[in-house]
Amino acid sequence: MSPTQPASPTGNETQEALLDRYADSLIPVFGRPQLVLERGDGPWVWDTDGKRYLDLVGGVAVNALGHNHPALVAAVSKQVAEMAHISNFFTSRAQVELAERILALAEAPDGSGVFFGNSGAEAIEAAIKLSRRTGRRHIVAAEGAFHGRTTGALALTHKAAYREPFAPLIPDVTHVPYNDADALRAAVTEETAAVFLEPVQGEAGAIVADAAYLRAAREITSAAGALLVIDEVQTGIGRTGDWFGHQESGIVPDAITVAKGLGGGLPIGALVTFGPDVTGLLTAGQHGSTFGGNPLVAAAALSVLTTIEADGILARVTAAGEHLASAVMALQHPDVVEVRGRGLLRAIVLTSDISAGVVAAAREAGFLVNPVAPNAVRLIPPLTITTDQLDLFVAALPDLITTAKERS
Ligand SMILES: *Cc1c(COP(=O)(O)O)cnc(C)c1O
Repeated sequence: MSPTQPASPTGNETQEALLDRYADSLIPVFGRPQLVLERGDGPWVWDTDGKRYLDLVGGVAVNALGHNHPALVAAVSKQVAEMAHISNFFTSRAQVELAERILALAEAPDGSGVFFGNSGAEAIEAAIKLSRRTGRRHIVAAEGAFHGRTTGALALTHKAAYREPFAPLIPDVTHVPYNDADALRAAVTEETAAVFLEPVQGEAGAIVADAAYLRAAREITSAAGALLVIDEVQTGIGRTGDWFGHQESGIVPDAITVAKGLGGGLPIGALVTFGPDVTGLLTAGQHGSTFGGNPLVAAAALSVLTTIEADGILARVTAAGEHLASAVMALQHPDVVEVRGRGLLRAIVLTSDISAGVVAAAREAGFLVNPVAPNAVRLIPPLTITTDQLDLFVAALPDLITTAKERS
């Protein structure tokens, strides 16, 4: 294409041609995308060839209400027509209301606070900076943890392949086995600023923290004077069937990080600090974000929270997740070991490393799922998905496994 020629409209262009243009114009950190998608409706998406898929990835736990939910469309359309962005020299009704709603849903005590950024990693960055204000700098995180890709968050993320090309990262981070209270107790000292834990390790394959482990983490950090930061970026906003994944354990953390599902597809992240002592650690001028919590994303997030509440979605998530797990196990398929996870953050664990093949076969059959580990397929669909829609995938699963094994 000559530089003067405008890019052609996507209308009649093939998927492959667009993916070639992608390869020629984007930094290849994501590899070659699987598809070029064009539109969505509820749990369904269509590619540029008009082929329809049941979206069980949901934008990686982002599209909480599915695609193009009317409440989200209305809220965003209204707000963008009024004003989209104003900087943090000013505030908006939507921003204040959103902070209040998040504090109420998180059951945060008086004196708690919210900082808005634009992503999960930025929420973690804010939490790391918060932890430095304790005067300590040692951080403990879990093996298998995923906390994001920025240079601060990356130090807490466990996977060596993500971290090593960028070493050295921030110092004094210890990774301990997940769900092992004794290992945590041994690692946390009077020098520890904070412990970061996910209630369910999503990127590790939907591995659930025992409630007793989270309670032990609370006791251990309180005794050492360290902060307990719960990373709710993937588990928050109803994903587990509670508003936040840690709530089932009954603990009160010092801070939580929230992002993915909060904006229903618009980019937003938040650090929530619990109580005046923790909230007071960050003072005027110590942190900031140009876009963070602008009226457009705040209006989007408010519509997500309002819809989850009004439509009784938390109970539906719990029921749909349990239905999915029991329907998969009822197949009594010899290649399925178990279904891990909580709510609609689930992984189907297989006896062999065929998840990539299952995902490819699923895509051909019209289902989008995620190969979260070589032997595990993750499902993180919109929270609005119905059991009938989940059953379409369960019914197809035996054939998908057969196809994957034939090709491996
Ligand atoms: C996705 C994720 C992050 C990082 O969020 P980004 O928006 O990709 O920066 C952090 N923590 C957890 C638990 C996540 O799942």
